[in-house]
Amino acid sequence: MTDPTQTPNDPAGRHPETRIARGAHVPDPATGEVAPALHPSTTFERDPAYRLLVADHSYARDQNPTFLPAERMLADLEGAAEALLFSSGMAAAMAVVQALRPGDRIVAPAVMYWGLRQWLGRFCTTWGLELALFDTADPEDLARQIRAAPTRLIWLETPCNPTWDVVDIARAAELAREAGALLAVDSTAATPVLTRPLSLGADLVMHSATKYLNGHGDVVAGALATARLDDVWQRIRDQRASGGAIPGTFDAWLLQRGMRTLFLRVRRASESALRIAEHFRGDPRVSRVLYPGLPEHPGHAVAQRQMLGGFGGMLSLRVAGGAEAALAAAGRCRTFLRATSLGGVESLIEHRATIEGPTSPIPDDLLRLSVGIEAVDDLIADLDQALT
Ligand code: PLP
Repeated sequence: MTDPTQTPNDPAGRHPETRIARGAHVPDPATGEVAPALHPSTTFERDPAYRLLVADHSYARDQNPTFLPAERMLADLEGAAEALLFSSGMAAAMAVVQALRPGDRIVAPAVMYWGLRQWLGRFCTTWGLELALFDTADPEDLARQIRAAPTRLIWLETPCNPTWDVVDIARAAELAREAGALLAVDSTAATPVLTRPLSLGADLVMHSATKYLNGHGDVVAGALATARLDDVWQRIRDQRASGGAIPGTFDAWLLQRGMRTLFLRVRRASESALRIAEHFRGDPRVSRVLYPGLPEHPGHAVAQRQMLGGFGGMLSLRVAGGAEAALAAAGRCRTFLRATSLGGVESLIEHRATIEGPTSPIPDDLLRLSVGIEAVDDLIADLDQALT
């Protein structure tokens, strides 16, 4: 894997932390402003010869200067040829699937963000795509599913929400090459701070930017980054430009602001999540702690290879005493907020089986934690009293 501390995209050889803290922004000589401007304009003027005054700036459904700082930062972090913002993570994922053709086959994880899994099931039926799900807990099942029939798209999410199984991206990339398939990775939970899927051979990376990239629970947005500017990427670009699945300009502006603290937030959340996982493993009130940073986690060896600098801020606790005990513990939390979503500065706790409903494959004793940036001792004390 490419070392994320290398600086391939920066002629001055600066670290990614430095580049992202500064944002992809060159101070405007007209104002000297250090923070980038917000451009609400929906249309852009042409000169008397009817040429665009600024290339690519014609109409805001295609492109908007306020999107550029976040898109450039993400492309830089992911080592991508280009990145595009979308109105949500779901819209970004849909743009990839809608770039396929009828009859194409998709292999995707059985455990993944449930909203996407549900949409994929419905969309594949109505649009004549074939969907095969692989077992993320069985390292051989991905190869089996890919080799079972010609496959066009391999969709990964790693670590997988909410069991935090880890899928080996480099191995999946070998299988994708062998099958002539595209490899797309939902890297929302890992973030480019910890994992850079393109450097491991993926073709596309997707983020729900609503989560860690923005990190403050106040923007819904998505993003895609591509290894190369090929036909598939062009179809994705066209999909966004025609469908208009773009964020509002204020959201795009907030997103670039949130991204500038990404390294600090993700590292803090990762350190705290590891502390929490270590604290509750072996606690009789918890039957299992699911966190790829623990040596006993089945994905630990792969996580050590592909997650550099931490194992992320997400973990799940399986509560001894079943669903009732899990819900009661969530109900007693005072510092963790009972709310869905993840990747913000505030810690959240969720009973996924309730959120996903009766068809959910998620065990009903499982509580998902999104660890924020609060003092970890407060978070541990809160869970301790909640589990009592
Ligand atoms: N991918 C993952 C891993 C998610 O957790 C989510 C949302 O929870 C999504 C995708 C969808 O993103 P959004 O809510 O921004 O549409």
